Amino acid sequence: TERSMALAEQAKRVAAEFEFGQEDVRKAVKEFIREMNEGLERDGTELSQIPTYVTAVPNGTEKGLYMAVDLGGTNFRVCSIQLHGNTTFSLTQSKVAIPRELMVAKTAKELFSFLAKQIEIFLKTHHEEHYFSHIRRRKTGDRINEEEIFNLGFTFSFPVHQIGINKGLLMRWTKGFDIQDAVGKDVCALLQAEIDELHLPVRVAALVNDTVGTLMARSYTSPGKTGTLLGAIFGTGTNGAYVEKLDKLTKLTNNQKAGDYDKSTGEMVVNTEWGSFDNSLRTLPNTPYDIELDAKSVNPGIQMFEKRVSGMFLGEVLRLALVGLLEDPSIPLFRDENSAQNDVHSTTQIHEGSGLWKQWGIDTSFLSICAGDHSPGYRMTRQTLDKDYGISAVSAEDAEAVRVIAAAVGRRAARLSAVAIAAIIIETGRLNASSTTGTATTEKKAGVELPRGDFDSAGRGEVPEEDVIDIGVDGSLVEFYPGFEDHVRQALREVEEIGEAGEKRIRIGIAKDGSGVGAALIALVAGKAV
Ligand code: ADP
Repeated sequence: TERSMALAEQAKRVAAEFEFGQEDVRKAVKEFIREMNEGLERDGTELSQIPTYVTAVPNGTEKGLYMAVDLGGTNFRVCSIQLHGNTTFSLTQSKVAIPRELMVAKTAKELFSFLAKQIEIFLKTHHEEHYFSHIRRRKTGDRINEEEIFNLGFTFSFPVHQIGINKGLLMRWTKGFDIQDAVGKDVCALLQAEIDELHLPVRVAALVNDTVGTLMARSYTSPGKTGTLLGAIFGTGTNGAYVEKLDKLTKLTNNQKAGDYDKSTGEMVVNTEWGSFDNSLRTLPNTPYDIELDAKSVNPGIQMFEKRVSGMFLGEVLRLALVGLLEDPSIPLFRDENSAQNDVHSTTQIHEGSGLWKQWGIDTSFLSICAGDHSPGYRMTRQTLDKDYGISAVSAEDAEAVRVIAAAVGRRAARLSAVAIAAIIIETGRLNASSTTGTATTEKKAGVELPRGDFDSAGRGEVPEEDVIDIGVDGSLVEFYPGFEDHVRQALREVEEIGEAGEKRIRIGIAKDGSGVGAALIALVAGKAV
C-alpha cells in the first residue's frame, strides 16, 4: 500500500543517518591511534590511558587459592577462587546489599568496617578451617604462616588515581555514594586497616579495574598461548584495557614520583577509559538524536564514544529517532487505524505513560529483541512494544520500520566498537608478530565462548595458535545483541591494515567473572611482584 511504502521510505531515511561507512571507520581508527599515543605520553588527554601497574597476563597455568571483593554500586561481593592451573577454576561467592546509610556515612571507617565484617563472615562460612587455624596461631603466639594469608583483589568501581598495584586514591564518589572523609584516601589501606582490626588472614594485594579483570580472566581461560591482548566491556558503559609496551608508556616511565612496578616483562596493562574517545567529535558520528541525547544527559560533552556505543544509551538513541518521526504528522508511524491483530482489525494506540515519551524510556534490550525477531509479522517486536512500551495493536509494517531503525543503531554501535578494537590491534603491532610455520592446532577450548559467528576462523582453530590475537569481552550488549560480533568483524575487515587476513586471526570470547577470577589473578601477579 501507499502507506507502507511511505513508512518504509522514512525508516530507510532515518536508518541512513546512522550509516558509519568504511571511510568513517578508517578515519576514526586513525584518530583513536593518535589519541592512544597522546594518552601514553601525558595526562589530561581524551583517552586517559591509565597505567594499572599490572605487568603480566596469565597463561592458564596459575594455581592457588585467592580472594576477591567487588564494591560496585548496590552490592558488595565476596568470593574465593581456586585456580586449578589448567585454565579452569572454582568460585565460591556471597553477595550482600550495601545498607543505604553506609553509602552516605560520616566516616570511611563505617563503610569499610562493614566490608571487612562481610569478609570475616565469608571466611567463617566457607573457609572455616583456614580461619580458625589462623585465630589459634594468633592466640598461642605461633608465627603466622605466610602461606596462610589470602591475597585479595579489590575491584572498586569508582574513579581512583592509582599509584601502585594495591594503592589508589579515591578521586570522588559516584552512583549515590557520598562519604567525604574517604575522598583523597587510599582505598586499599582503608580496607586493610579494618581487616587487620578483625585479625583476618587477608592481604589486600591489588586494586582492580573491571576491564583489567576481564582481560586477566580471559587470558587465564583462553585456549591460546599468546596471552590475551585486550579486555573490553560493552555493558552499561564501555571501556577496554590492553597490554602495552612499557617503553611507550612514557608518562609513567619518565615520572620520578611514580610508584614501584615490575619492569622485567617490559609490558603493562593500560586502562584506556575509551568511553571518552573523541569527545571533541573529530570523527564520531553526530546525528540530531546524538546531539539531543547528549544535551539532556547529566554530563554533556563527555563520554561521547560511550553515548554512541553502550547499553545505557542505545535504547534512548532509538527512542529519540522514533519520536522524531512521530513529531512529523505526515509520517504514518503508529498511526494505523486498521492494523491486523489476530485477524481483528484495530487502531494502533500509544498509551499515556508509554516509555516512548520518557527519557531513558526504551531499554537497549529492546534492540536485541528487534534484531533477533524472525517471527512471522514480527510478533516478538509487536508484543514487546505492547507489553513493555504501551504501544498496542502495532501493525507488522510499523514493527518493520522500528526494526530497521533499531538495527541501524545497533550496527553503528558495533562498527564503532570495531574502531577501538582495530586501533589497539594496529597500535600494539600484534599483526606483525606472526608465526612462520603454518600448522593449525585444534586445542580443546576452556572457558565460555561466544556463539560462533559465521566468520570466526580463529575460534574454530583454523589459524595457527601463535597467530591468534585473543580478545576477551563482557557485557550484555556483546553477549545478547544478535550479530554484534559479525558487525564488528565486518568493520574490522574494512580497515586496510587488518583486512580479511588480519580479521581471521582475531578470536573474540566472553570472559565472565572479571571481578572474581580476574581480580584473583591480579592479586596473584601482585603477590609475585612483592
Ligand atoms: P554492567 O555493565 O552494569 O555490569 P550489563 O553488562 O548487564 O551490566 O549491562 C547492562 C546494560 O545492558 C544495560 O544498559 C541494559 O540496558 C543493557 N542490556 C540488558 N539486557 C540487554 C540485552 N538483552 N541486549 C542488549 N542490551 C542489554
